[in-house]
Amino acid sequence: MFVTISPKDNESLTVAYLAGQVACDKLEEIDISNLPSQASRFAATSKDPVACARYFNRIVRCFFQDVVGNDQEEQRPHARGGSFGHVEAFIAGFETQVDGTLHFHSMLWLYGMAGSRLQVADLLKSDSYRASFLSFSDSVQCHSAPLPTEATCPTCVYAPGAVVAVEPSSLAFTRAAGRTEAPVTARCATCKSEFGHGDLIMASLRRGVAELLGADSTIDFEKELRPLVNLPPASWTSVAIGKIYATDPNVRRRELAEAVITTYLVVHCNLHSWQHCEPCFKNSKRTQGLNVGACRYSYPREPAKVTHFDDDTELVVARRVGSEYVNSYSATIMLTLPTNHDIRILARHGDMYYSLKYTFKYQQQVTSAAILVEAFKRRVARDEQILPAAPNVAAQRRVCSLVHAATKTQEIAAPQAAHYCLGGDGMYASQGFAPLLLGQ
Ligand SMILES: [Zn+2]
Ligand SMILES: [Zn+2]
Repeated sequence: MFVTISPKDNESLTVAYLAGQVACDKLEEIDISNLPSQASRFAATSKDPVACARYFNRIVRCFFQDVVGNDQEEQRPHARGGSFGHVEAFIAGFETQVDGTLHFHSMLWLYGMAGSRLQVADLLKSDSYRASFLSFSDSVQCHSAPLPTEATCPTCVYAPGAVVAVEPSSLAFTRAAGRTEAPVTARCATCKSEFGHGDLIMASLRRGVAELLGADSTIDFEKELRPLVNLPPASWTSVAIGKIYATDPNVRRRELAEAVITTYLVVHCNLHSWQHCEPCFKNSKRTQGLNVGACRYSYPREPAKVTHFDDDTELVVARRVGSEYVNSYSATIMLTLPTNHDIRILARHGDMYYSLKYTFKYQQQVTSAAILVEAFKRRVARDEQILPAAPNVAAQRRVCSLVHAATKTQEIAAPQAAHYCLGGDGMYASQGFAPLLLGQ
């Protein structure tokens, strides 16, 4: 499996505490009434990259210990396993994203999973294996916001009609320059109104909140739900919906509150922008042959009623109408570590190779000794011809330019520098590694 987690360190209450802005004895009493303002949390976190790196390191350890279920000391999974089953091995590479905050990509190898794609193809001939595989997929990754969107048209008032998917125009996959509205991806079967994904998800949230808090049209559901994004889950009970989710005696209401909260967090953490962003149009070997100028992540994605294998035995995960832009997520992670993340079972052709490369792309560019040694040899050969010098001068020249070449283009974000200063090494793995001493 391939898992990416981007802990939300800017504005985090924990980082504000580590930065000395929130007193320790107040930390557990923080609720909606006394949460430090967004601006003051942001200032605290952006001024203290060491606090950000400490928070990140802690999230990484908690994630692999509690969510993945690995006993780091014993180098084996806990007997209870974790959210994805029992993990045989994992490796995670750390890097900074555009705003300078740290995130990680990880690869997890699971006990009981087929070892190769050919083996998977063979095993899938068995109906029971196929059924188990599909239910495993549904248990670890979701491509739909949980609130229902198809049954009730947002604009039919008296006799709500069903909403059906509409194939988006090819324009929807390209840069959104000049367009101000999300592409039409659905239509009501009764009144024929057309909708973008946001219309349907917002309508489902409005219905869910009204059902939980009373059908009062004056309820501002954004105001009811927004604090959930900033408060730690332990303090959600200070918000009406969070209180229903944690304490209501009626299980159906608890489940509805959970679906409302998860949907809201998906909207805030895990939606691909319908306007797309720069990396959507980056060329790579993987996108060769696809439409030029089309989003390489293929958003908006086509809805699918159930999780299944298509004709090429590629896994297709269930996706609701209205969830065309939802990035793969885990409901458990969303409710315990509300942050942007990505989960993939690597069962598609070429997935494994591409993901491993992606997980470690940053280190490869920066510290690959093998590439530097090759470049060094080429330059020594060239210098011998055009810049004749005594051996010690030639050597000095080479070392200086090598150091310059290896450092001039690097700017390391402060949290990453802090991570290294705190003794981190840019990765985290289930097993220890021995250094390979190239010089010897
Ligand atoms: Zn309608
Ligand atoms: Zn895109």
